[in-house]
Amino acid sequence: MSASTWGGPNSSAEEHYPLSLLRLLLKETMGQFGAQGACMALHDETIGQMRVQLHVRATNAQPSSELPLVGLNHSSPQQDTPGRRKTVQLDTGEEETQHVASVNASLRSRSQALPVDGVIDITPEQCDLFAVGSTYSPGQDLIGYTWHKNEAYTMRHEDYLALVRTNQTTALHTDVTPSYYLTIPIREATLVDESLGHPHPTTVLGVIVLYYLGNPTLNLQKVRVEAPKYVERIALYLQNEALRAQNENLCLKQQRTSDYLQLLQSISSVFPTSVKLSDLVEHIYQFVARVVDVSGMLLTIYDRDLDRLYDVFAMHNGVRVNGLAEKPAVQLKSERPVWWRETQHEKRSLLFSPARDYEKTQAYQELLTGVWGDQRYTATFLLLPMKMFNRVVGTICLTSMQPDAYPPEEIQVLEAMAQIVTVSIENTKLYERDRAILNDARQREAQLAAINSALQSISSVLNVTELLNSLVESVALIANVDMCVFFEPSPSSEELIAHALYAPSSVKMVDDGSGMPVITPPNKGEPDKFINMIQLPFKGTFLEHMADEGFFYLDPPKLDELARGSNEGGVIFLREIGVEHMLMVPVSYQAVFIGFLAVPTPNGNRFFRPKDVGTVLAICAQAASAIRNAHLFEQREEAYARLERMDKLKDEFLVTASHELRTPLTAISGYSSQLKRQSARATPQTVLRFATKISVAAQQLSDLVANITEAAQIGPGDRKMDIQTENVQMLAATEMALNMITHHSEHMITLDIDRDIWINGDAPRVRQVLTNLIENATKYSPPGTQIQVTATPMLLSDTEPLLTEDQLDPTLLIDHDDIPVVVVRVKDQGEGILPQDQQKIFEKFVRAPRSLTTPVRGSGLGLYICRRFVEAMGGKLWLEQSIANEGSIFSFYLPQVASPVDTGE
Ligand code: ADP
Repeated sequence: MSASTWGGPNSSAEEHYPLSLLRLLLKETMGQFGAQGACMALHDETIGQMRVQLHVRATNAQPSSELPLVGLNHSSPQQDTPGRRKTVQLDTGEEETQHVASVNASLRSRSQALPVDGVIDITPEQCDLFAVGSTYSPGQDLIGYTWHKNEAYTMRHEDYLALVRTNQTTALHTDVTPSYYLTIPIREATLVDESLGHPHPTTVLGVIVLYYLGNPTLNLQKVRVEAPKYVERIALYLQNEALRAQNENLCLKQQRTSDYLQLLQSISSVFPTSVKLSDLVEHIYQFVARVVDVSGMLLTIYDRDLDRLYDVFAMHNGVRVNGLAEKPAVQLKSERPVWWRETQHEKRSLLFSPARDYEKTQAYQELLTGVWGDQRYTATFLLLPMKMFNRVVGTICLTSMQPDAYPPEEIQVLEAMAQIVTVSIENTKLYERDRAILNDARQREAQLAAINSALQSISSVLNVTELLNSLVESVALIANVDMCVFFEPSPSSEELIAHALYAPSSVKMVDDGSGMPVITPPNKGEPDKFINMIQLPFKGTFLEHMADEGFFYLDPPKLDELARGSNEGGVIFLREIGVEHMLMVPVSYQAVFIGFLAVPTPNGNRFFRPKDVGTVLAICAQAASAIRNAHLFEQREEAYARLERMDKLKDEFLVTASHELRTPLTAISGYSSQLKRQSARATPQTVLRFATKISVAAQQLSDLVANITEAAQIGPGDRKMDIQTENVQMLAATEMALNMITHHSEHMITLDIDRDIWINGDAPRVRQVLTNLIENATKYSPPGTQIQVTATPMLLSDTEPLLTEDQLDPTLLIDHDDIPVVVVRVKDQGEGILPQDQQKIFEKFVRAPRSLTTPVRGSGLGLYICRRFVEAMGGKLWLEQSIANEGSIFSFYLPQVASPVDTGE
């Protein structure tokens, strides 16, 4: 279809388009794109050029007298001369006809509500930019260029002057200075191309130029892309208007009353954003019945997207076939070959008499039968194609019992009606399509934004728990599900442990009396012990095999299988919160399995849409490296914390050690210099006294150095010490140890050790352990208090209740028989050790804080060394009891051996 359809060779566009309609369309377009001025040029077939039909400006965008003039340096005289300013105020409703109102409503419904209160016409005198009546050939000026290129353009005013108007001799004379222009071609609807499946050059019916005063509020580059689509709809209004006018002429010519006109108008006002099919067919039927005699009628619509034919209205012998508008008869195109051929290839009305023309009746049998019954006996048959450009979108078939019921003039009227109906339907489809595209784009945009922000929040987090919480939440929101869980393999990889769970209030693990607490999402960054209670079996299950696969779904049997191997928390998760199908996405980083993301499908759906799975996979792929980073970061932090602790210990040790070293050194240097000074007159007794002091201090010094060396040598706990064991008599060892302690006389030390008790160990080291424990007891308890040393034989299994938690080794007796051991206890009535220090004192260089503030000397090495010795000899050393200001019991056990038959003593 070319623009000539709109008017004959001698007509100008103006005859067909009331300025009120054009003004309205411009006003709506300005509102849509936030412009302050606009002009519309339409193709004038007679001269082959674009002619400016109308130039308007928003009433709320009138120039102020301060605005500079373009091109000329004088002020505008017209501005102040009311007589020269011909303005037409358009007030909504004042001069708009009914159809205009409906156009208005329809256009506005999708506009972005940038209000343009009203517009005034701009006359050529006022402004010779886009002066009404000026014409442009292809490529000439902005309008000709837009027409020629069939593209929307934006341009700054300066560029317009510099690039487009360079050859103009006359200066531009305008009352305002636009800042920007947006030009938009009015294209014939692009539906034609799609339907024919091959490129079909679109005809440009006209050009709209929008201009802006000051800075545009919208992004013009973005607007430029959508503008032609928006304006495409204007083409339909224009065409509809042309048809209406054409029809009006026709009806007038035939002296028909305004009856038809009104009816046609009511059809065209069923326009816009939605066509209610039942209304539309009713209008068609009413109209047809007024114009011609009709006994049968069939309205068929073709949907090219689904490639199906819909019979939406049928009448047989004057009686309507009920319910078709709501539930049309549907057929494939291939089931109606004659209809298809006839409408696609002929595209003209088809008229014959079925009753008389036997051959045609045979050939067109398909058209004469169907939901509207058998029409082969009617006297007149008429098929009206509903055409949209080159394409047929449906047909109206009519029959009458009267011969020659449809004379040519009536057929013309009916054809015009069919056109209007077609435009209505197409316009709705176009609107729907645009809306769908827009919605789709919005959805995609929203989803992309969601993914982006999810990834951003994920990759910026370095705390593993916080990161996983953010991951499960993002996935749940993006995939639009109620729940999402991240499972990590346990350290032993035996099971999967839930590390993060997203479950808003709708899904909660409620206490069902099973003793399980309510499971709620954890606080950010804090692993939640309740969530960790959800555990699934992993090692040896199908999950382990699937860990390096792509995603997969768990169906009810598989969930059941897992539930059977799960702990209580896992069972509740799998069985009691209504999970039926669950998407599992293995998350790995460089082939190292990190965990599973589990997303139950909503409402019992079996699968997610591929698009959603794709999104989840994309997020997981990104999250994998983030999780890995976070893990590494945490490990580094831990190592760093350990180092820091070691550093602190070292500092403390240096303080302690220097103090420890200084004391005997001071003694040594003091006594030796005194010895030197008094050497001439010193009695042998004095020399002996000083020498003893010196040797005791030297012994202390060497003990300390030995301890430090020993601690450094035995190294970390996993290194095995080389120890020779022998049978040691417990009592003898203790007595010897006691002798090694210098100042024990201030305490009452009792030994309760059976002479027959023998153990297996390294004698000097057993003595060292005993010395250390007894010495500590003397050091950390007030003089005059009691210290008891006892030895009790018992079975290894019986020591279990005595041991501290950190010293329990449940595997110890699994592969071995129970053995007899001897538990040796050193009990004092001293200061005791605070609970928070009870484990730490066994570490290297650690002394309980309160010992640091007392004058009692120590290096913090004794217990560490003792424990390592006892362990090397196959025993354990622990703090069995300690009560502040009441005393402590340090205990160790070693394997018992039978006492030798004869010791020879
Ligand atoms: P040292 O006695 O040289 O400081 P140890 O390793 O033997 O080092 O002991 C570590 C810490 O344990 C001591 O500094 C002290 O605080 C505490 N401790 C050890 N034995 C006792 C005890 N019998 N009563 C109270 N505190 C003790």
